[in-house]
Amino acid sequence: FNVPKAQNEPVKNYLPGSPEREELQAMVEKMRSEVIDIPMYIGSEEIRTSDLREFSSPHDHQRVLAKYHYGDKSHVEQAVNAALGARTLWAEMSWEHRASIFLKAADLAAGPYRAKLNASTMLGQSKTVYQAEIDSACELVDFLRFNVEYMTQIYAEQPESSAGIWNRLEHRPLEGFIFAITPFNFTAIAGNLPAAPAMMGNTVVWKPSDDQVYSAKVLMDLFREAGVPDGVINLVYAEGPDAGDVVFNHPDFAGLHFTGSTGVFQHLWKTIGENITKYKTYPRIVGETGGKDYILAHKSADAKAVATAITRGAFEFQGQKCSAASRCYIPRNIWADVESYLKADIDDIISNYMGSPEEMSNFFSAVINERSFDKISGYIDRAKASDHCEVIAGGNYDKSKGYFVEPTVIVTTDPMYESMQEEIFGPVVTIYVYETEAFDKAIYLVDNTSPYALTGAIFATDRYAIEHATKKLVNTAGNFYINDKPTGAVVGQQPFGGARGSGTNDKAGSILNLLRWVSPRMIKETF
Ligand code: GLU
Repeated sequence: FNVPKAQNEPVKNYLPGSPEREELQAMVEKMRSEVIDIPMYIGSEEIRTSDLREFSSPHDHQRVLAKYHYGDKSHVEQAVNAALGARTLWAEMSWEHRASIFLKAADLAAGPYRAKLNASTMLGQSKTVYQAEIDSACELVDFLRFNVEYMTQIYAEQPESSAGIWNRLEHRPLEGFIFAITPFNFTAIAGNLPAAPAMMGNTVVWKPSDDQVYSAKVLMDLFREAGVPDGVINLVYAEGPDAGDVVFNHPDFAGLHFTGSTGVFQHLWKTIGENITKYKTYPRIVGETGGKDYILAHKSADAKAVATAITRGAFEFQGQKCSAASRCYIPRNIWADVESYLKADIDDIISNYMGSPEEMSNFFSAVINERSFDKISGYIDRAKASDHCEVIAGGNYDKSKGYFVEPTVIVTTDPMYESMQEEIFGPVVTIYVYETEAFDKAIYLVDNTSPYALTGAIFATDRYAIEHATKKLVNTAGNFYINDKPTGAVVGQQPFGGARGSGTNDKAGSILNLLRWVSPRMIKETF
């Protein structure tokens, strides 16, 4: 099983004058100067409909980048049929050939497709160059390469045999098709959610977020060029209820691979439960959902490190990460320092590094769409009006050109305030300053005031405090960070996922996740 050893794809730096910057700049210029036509991809066909929708840049919403052909129930049905039609041949293909296809996809993403993947993510999802690079280039490549390695580990794992008895474990794909519902916020996740089950021999109906269709098309081109056969991954754009109606009533529905909101996931789970008697097999349900991720500082923490973690953890990609730091518990003894570092950082971002992601020095850009903008600005307005809150940095917003909301810091005296508990999915972080000696109270609040458990971070230099918090906060995060921001998990190093309201914790980019896409058959042969 000597597949090439997976290694993390190095992050390129895009410094002025570097060849990668010039190539990317040229690609951005080319792509923003045209309006492309994006069909659905079902079986061997490119499907065009009369329901043509516009796709524009969130940071420049009057600029149309693409027109895409929206589907209805009949197209989802067609995609399910294409997936089922392709299933037998694909399931019977030997793992080496499946692996080769996805290793080739990884090489294409790391090489000839890199600029296009990054440019489409920058233009279509308003990711800055660094955020695009770590997502649509490196994480995508890492998912593909590491998953191929994990796949070989799964196939290699065999039970003991004994004299006269040969035991063999056959890791069959699931019996039916997989439905992948993917989010706008990570192009890599949008690619991995269909690719991981497909790698294990399944065929997939893939419905991306309407806000990610532009880079989804680049991913689909990549999969096709790498040799993913027709019908193995079928890309459809449809309203959730239309797609759900077809998929969740189908007897061959065998699995859901989901990243998105907790509310939607719970609704889908209920629907699957209500339909359970209709299915041939119990569907696998794998979901990564919301977060209310925390930074807890101890009185021994380094104030500068805490402030930097808040700035990066809360505001990279405008806070639109499930993992984004959004509630912080800071002891009074270091608060004045944390506050002044934070205000300085944020003033600097707003004055110098906020704007279009096409300007490669920018750190911060627009949020994804108007609905998101309105939701986030609502939280800011209510905080400004609340007696329990003070907005100490940012707080302005403007949607005239793009959906821009400043990085915003709310300080509250109420640890139960709405923005300490609810997921906002935008550039707003709320801070509760606790009395210096009340570390246990802060631990209690972290554990008991949010339904989520995705990521969290403890900052301290006192090792007893670190150990104490690590033990007490055992159920509060699937990814727990000591003296680091709670975002930026790297495939192959920190498998990612949370529990409680944050998901099924099947750790994207790990053997655990791939195991969900197989249904083992145990074969015992007696001689
Ligand atoms: N894996 C990403 C991180 O560690 C977050 C993924 C997400 O937001 O869904 O920051």
